[in-house]
Amino acid sequence: MEQTPATISDPTRTGTPGDIFTAALTRLDEAAKLVGVDDEILTRLRRPKRVVQATIPLRLDDGTLCCLPAYRVQHDDSRGPCKGGIRFHPAVDLAEVQALAFWMTFKCAVVGIPFGGGKGGVVVDPKRLSGAELERLSRGYARAMADVIGPTRDVPAPDVYTNAMIMGWMMDEYSECHRGREPAVITGKPIALGGSLGREDATGRGAYYCIKELENQRGWTPSTIRVAIQGFGNAGQHVARLLQADGYRIVAVSDSRGGVARLEGLDVPALIEKKLGGRSLATGYSSKSVCDCPHCGSSSCSCGGARDERLISNAELLELDVDLLIPAALEEQLTEENADRIRARTVVEVANGPTTPMADLILEKRGVQVVPDILANAGGVTVSYFEWAQNRAGLQWSEPEVHARLRETMTRAFGSVMDMSKRKRVPLRAAAYACGLTAISEAISASGTQSYFSPTRSRRET
Ligand code: NAD
Repeated sequence: MEQTPATISDPTRTGTPGDIFTAALTRLDEAAKLVGVDDEILTRLRRPKRVVQATIPLRLDDGTLCCLPAYRVQHDDSRGPCKGGIRFHPAVDLAEVQALAFWMTFKCAVVGIPFGGGKGGVVVDPKRLSGAELERLSRGYARAMADVIGPTRDVPAPDVYTNAMIMGWMMDEYSECHRGREPAVITGKPIALGGSLGREDATGRGAYYCIKELENQRGWTPSTIRVAIQGFGNAGQHVARLLQADGYRIVAVSDSRGGVARLEGLDVPALIEKKLGGRSLATGYSSKSVCDCPHCGSSSCSCGGARDERLISNAELLELDVDLLIPAALEEQLTEENADRIRARTVVEVANGPTTPMADLILEKRGVQVVPDILANAGGVTVSYFEWAQNRAGLQWSEPEVHARLRETMTRAFGSVMDMSKRKRVPLRAAAYACGLTAISEAISASGTQSYFSPTRSRRET
């Protein structure tokens, strides 16, 4: 079997000024001021442990060959094997994957699961691929990374524009490379291949459990809480569904083609049905948008059927007069440019990195409470951990058991972050990073900090 070229290197870069990884590292400095850890630990965490860059040669159905850049970044494995999704998106770049891997290190630490941080991506527009092309690409990625991933090394999962079917193909290819079935190499798989019950909606459900904690604290009456959700994929759909079932008013949702708003509340199950109805069996991607007319199915409606939803742009959705804003799409959506116009009093970050550090400062000054990504969207990696644990033990837990364990994990993590926030009088994001950094530095120190970082220095000191 042909092996794709891959270079494995120890990177020296710690980010380029202005890139998203450099911005992500500012959170580390803030956390260090709060919990006071050894400088050597910070030096270690400013650099990913390993960066793998590969080129995946993809043979298209028409016979042409295209070469796709692919990445896997392992940020830190002090607390366990690296863990993090694989993204197929045209805007993927190394800085983004490094930032996403860094966030995973802290996310796993915040919820107390025994993993470090990793992330992967391929620069591709997967919606333009046929099912067979998508499968060849997925298998190509698994082959390119087969030497660096594995159940005790680095365990990938789905992220933007990857799904259970893709995880199944990758697990199968990895197993072929290693001449043995290895379900625990990847999570978010189809149930038939060792996927966990409850993984499909875990990210949205984890965010929902955080919102239930906020509801308790603030004494919210769900029917009075207006919610806008940007991004209506795996994460966005499930949080919308669960909140609406509890009576929350979902007044706006959007996807990559735009959004819809309705003050009295949208019919979330109908919107999900529309998205799923347009889903290709071969690729899993939906050709339908939430913007498509409920009557004629077209986004430039000409059927004359009165639609009772207003079409809005993604930018408008963020600035709507709502109580709760849930970014559930991509990074850097709340920025210095629009933070002054955000009217929601609470933001729950289901996407990774939707708020820039500058926007954070503006929102904080304006009294907007942000539940940070490394807490709010940690439900996905938590149930991924459950899946990995079940695969390694040869067990399958029931769905109610997965939900109960997830709720317990999310509620405990939410409580720890809230306590830290109150104790240190800092926003939830700084508190979450402080909790994460404490757990990571304990693991690094327990492994023998001085000899780990500097054998010459420890020789000098003894
Ligand atoms: P997905 O591929 O299922 O859905 C992505 C959604 O975002 C789609 O509705 C898409 O139309 C929309 N979108 C894409 N570009 C957009 C744009 N420019 N503006 C508005 N919407 C846009 O992906 P997902 O798994 O739901 O991931 C969404 C976010 O949640 C990402 O930031 C991801 O990293 C994060 N996340 C996902 C998981 C998980 O388990 N899936 C876990 C943790 C965090």
